[in-house]
Amino acid sequence: MNIIDKFRLDGKAAFVTGGARGIGKSVATAFCEAGANVAIVDIDEEEAKKTARLLEQTTGAKTLALKADITEPEQVDSMMSKILDTYGKLDIAFCNAGICMNIPAEEMTFAQWKKVIDINLSGVFLTAQAAGRQMLKQESGGSIINTASMSAHIVNVPQPQCAYNASKAGVIQLTKSLAVEWATRNVRVNSISPGYIATELTLSSPALKPLIEKWNAVAPLHRMGKPEELQAICVYLAGNSSTFTTGSDFVIDGAFTCI
Ligand code: NAD
Repeated sequence: MNIIDKFRLDGKAAFVTGGARGIGKSVATAFCEAGANVAIVDIDEEEAKKTARLLEQTTGAKTLALKADITEPEQVDSMMSKILDTYGKLDIAFCNAGICMNIPAEEMTFAQWKKVIDINLSGVFLTAQAAGRQMLKQESGGSIINTASMSAHIVNVPQPQCAYNASKAGVIQLTKSLAVEWATRNVRVNSISPGYIATELTLSSPALKPLIEKWNAVAPLHRMGKPEELQAICVYLAGNSSTFTTGSDFVIDGAFTCI
């Protein structure tokens, strides 16, 4: 198989959590363009349906829109059942859904802390576990990609994000743990750590607007990343050219963590 063909994902079955918009939508698009069939999983059912329809029309992939809250084990189980009913297998899991809260540590309520940890860390555990359980049963194994953040590596200022930073650092160590546990059983687990990416998460809050100007001023590239700038690394990790790559975290941040 030549190197370009190793990047193709023809006939593979994938799910993408947080797939309705932002980074998830962009990576789901790339998976479909590379030949995979993709289940768009999101708590926002309407947006998930729109994205799934759009990808089916533009790429010809067989898509699925699934409403699931990744913090609810029963909903994650039901998501997996529907994926297996439709595709009969799961080759790629992009455990990506996440939220952010900018709240000073001394003001954060326990409920707010738990919400961030629940979605960003426990939600990644539940979805990666569900994917792994299926992939371990398949001779063909599979590839799991978790979304961490550059905030797992640095404490970025001036926004206070202790729960977010802790959750994303947890995602990296969870990724390494699963990679080691499943290494000899043909299930690879890696994470990506994006820098600031222009999505609704970062652009929707008016409070963040002045911060974005500050980030862009200090960022080595003087701009935020675009969701499509995360596509290639995820296609690489999902496919057959990365068979010796497991337990790794990939920082894609335009050198923000270098400063
Ligand atoms: P986004 O807010 O644009 O999209 C997140 C998606 O996740 C939404 O569609 C939302 O409905 C879904 N979601 C939220 N909670 C959910 C739940 N409980 N169950 C199922 N779906 C749920 O965000 P984004 O910028 O695309 O971020 C995606 C991931 O990338 C997140 O984990 C985020 O922390 C991470 N990240 C983002 C940036 C950035 O600058 N945008 C940087 C580093 C890491």
